Amino acid sequence: MGIIELRGCLDNELIEICRELGLKQFRGLQLFQWVQQKAVLSWDEIKNISKDDLQTLSSRLHLYSLEQVQEQRSKDGTRKYLFRLEDGEMIECVLMDYSRTQSRDRHTVCVSTQVGCAVGCAFCATGIEGFRRNLSAAEIVGQVLDITHLIRQEDPDFQVTNIVFMGMGEPLLNYDSVLKAIKLLNHEQGQAIGMRRMTISTCGVVPRMLQLAKDNPQVGLAVSLHAAQDEIRNQLVPMNRRYPLALLMETCHEYSRMTHRRITFEVALTAENTRREEAEDLARLLKGQLGHVNLIPINPVEGTGMKRPDPEKIKRFAQVLENAGISVSSREERGTDINAACGQLRRQWEG
Ligand code: SAH
Ligand code: SF4
Repeated sequence: MGIIELRGCLDNELIEICRELGLKQFRGLQLFQWVQQKAVLSWDEIKNISKDDLQTLSSRLHLYSLEQVQEQRSKDGTRKYLFRLEDGEMIECVLMDYSRTQSRDRHTVCVSTQVGCAVGCAFCATGIEGFRRNLSAAEIVGQVLDITHLIRQEDPDFQVTNIVFMGMGEPLLNYDSVLKAIKLLNHEQGQAIGMRRMTISTCGVVPRMLQLAKDNPQVGLAVSLHAAQDEIRNQLVPMNRRYPLALLMETCHEYSRMTHRRITFEVALTAENTRREEAEDLARLLKGQLGHVNLIPINPVEGTGMKRPDPEKIKRFAQVLENAGISVSSREERGTDINAACGQLRRQWEG
C-alpha cells in the first residue's frame, strides 16, 4: 500500500484508512478536522490523538506543508507568496485582504492549479514558461491551509472566505484534482467555504466546461475571453484554435442553461485592443448571454511587448458595453506594485 497525501483526503477516506489500520473510526474525522479546519502543518500539532495512533497513521499518510520562499506585501494589503513544493518546483499564491471597512471581512485566496501552463497565452508569464506538471488536490488545498496557518499567527480568528482558481495553470486541464480540492475546501468540517464563493477561471476548455456544469453547477465560472474576433483571440489565447469563439459562446449558453449561473467574462485590455470597434464586437458577441464582463488592464510582463492602455480608453470601452446593456466592472487593481500577475514572481525568482 502506497503513502497517501493527507491534505488531499476526504473524511470518509480517512475513516476508511483508520478502519484498515485497526484504529477507531472516529479518529478519521478528528484527523480531518485537524488538517482541514485547524490547518496544522505537522503531526506534532495534533493534540487529541495518541502518539502511538499518530505513528500508525503516518505509516500510510504523508503530511507536508509548502515551503515559503518569499512573501511580498503590497501597499493595498495584498500579499503574494512564492512556495516551493516537495520536488523543488515553485508556485505562486495571492491573498487579497479586504479591509473591514470596505467589505465585511472578505479574504480571497488566488490559488495555482498547475506548475506552469501548456496553453501559452501571449501576455501571461506562466504561459511563457511552459508546462511542468499538475498539482495534486493536496497541493492546491495546501496553499489555502498554509496561508491560513500563517495569518492565524497574527490574527487567530482569520478565515479564508473566497477562492479564485486564477493563479498559475489552467484549472480545467487538471480537472479531477481541482474538483477534489473544491470538495475539500467546501467541507463543513474543514474550511467550509461556500461553493458560490469559489470561482474557476478557464481559457475555454469547452468539453470540461460542460462536464463542470454536470459535476458541480454551484461553483462559479469565469471565462478568459480577451477578444471577440477569432483572428485576435487565436493570437492571445492559443486554445482558441481548438475551440473557436462560436463554439465557446455556444458552450457558455449551454452552461448557463444547465446551471442558471451567470458567467464572468474576463477581458484583459492592452494598449492595442481597447478600441471602440473591439468593444462593439464584444457587445455583439455577448448579446443575449447571461454574463458579466470584468475588464482587467494588462499587467505588463517582460518580453511580451504588451502595454497597459490609458485609463480613459478603458472607461470609453466600458461605456460602449454598458450602452449595449451589458453588466460590466473594472477589476480593482491589486498588488500591481508586487508583480501580482500570475507567474511573474516565479519568473523573477528563477530568471
Ligand atoms: N488559466 C486560467 C486561469 C489562470 S489565469 C485562465 O486563463 O483563465 C487568470 C486570469 O489572469 C486570466 O483571465 C488570464 O487571462 C489573466 N492574466 C494572465 N496574465 C495576465 C497579465 N499579465 N495581465 C492581466 N491579466 C493576466
Ligand atoms: Fe495558462 Fe491562463 Fe496563463 Fe493562458 S492565461 S497561459 S491559460 S495560466
